[in-house]
Amino acid sequence: MNATSPVLRVLAPNPSPLTLEGTNSYLVFAGARAIAIDPGPPIAAHVDALIAAAAARAATIAAIAVTHGHPDHAPAAAMLRARTNAPVYGHANATFPIDRAVGDGARIDIADASGEIASLGVIDAPGHARDHLVFTYARESALFTGDVVIGYGTIVIAPPHGDMRAYQRTLARLRDEHGDARTIYGGHGAAVGDPRAKLDEYIAHRQRRESEILTELAAGERTIPELVTAIYESVARVLWPAAARQVLAYLIALEREGRVHSRSLERELTRAETAMLDPDLSAIVDPQSIAVARAELGYDRELTTIDAYRLC
Ligand SMILES: [Zn+2]
Repeated sequence: MNATSPVLRVLAPNPSPLTLEGTNSYLVFAGARAIAIDPGPPIAAHVDALIAAAAARAATIAAIAVTHGHPDHAPAAAMLRARTNAPVYGHANATFPIDRAVGDGARIDIADASGEIASLGVIDAPGHARDHLVFTYARESALFTGDVVIGYGTIVIAPPHGDMRAYQRTLARLRDEHGDARTIYGGHGAAVGDPRAKLDEYIAHRQRRESEILTELAAGERTIPELVTAIYESVARVLWPAAARQVLAYLIALEREGRVHSRSLERELTRAETAMLDPDLSAIVDPQSIAVARAELGYDRELTTIDAYRLC
């Protein structure tokens, strides 16, 4: 990305442990027009910044493409639409308002008056969220991956909307069909210059975590907090609630496959278990990021009892 690149990153001012430095919004230019990808959280100054970044290249925003409905990616789409009249493109099951549903194999095209074209391909990419899309940009041999692949670290697959096996299939498909891409522009962090290596790393990481869980369970019945304490020891404790959601995603997959069995321990959570499974998010992120954290972590019900898991 440089002054002459048709891709421009505009960083949203929403840093947190779950969003890294903030959400990456992107503009893809075609002469005097641009596609905005992931306008981001509902921050008016960021919408202003997107419009100004387009104007700085004498362009207007003609289309808005959203990777998924999480509150750090999608809400500004409606705000940007109100300012530009550009249609919002998203998944058919999008959890946010869209003008045009796009599915696997669809294209999002814009052209300016001189005939310059920008064209994005659409890949259905479930796993992190059910309404997740990845966009391809052949001209730069680039992928816009939202929260499927980010610049550094790994992303959270949190039930009920996150599905570990769907996510693993999405990663495998991206590697098999787009491993030759030159650049991944993720939803957070810097651009990735070696997509195949990054996808291999993500795929191996998931397999390693799953085998760590299976190794622990081979030693006996375990609760999720016990698994997290054993497996995520080297990870910052502030991220343990996210790790717990991740472990749950593996366990749901394994239970569905008949490899793991769960039972309720029929007792209330200890304070340490509550801190991991139902944490006070205001102690983890700033107040305006709590909605993002709840969505990213998939909290949808109150926990009253704790489960234990064993191998079948
Ligand atoms: Zn997300």
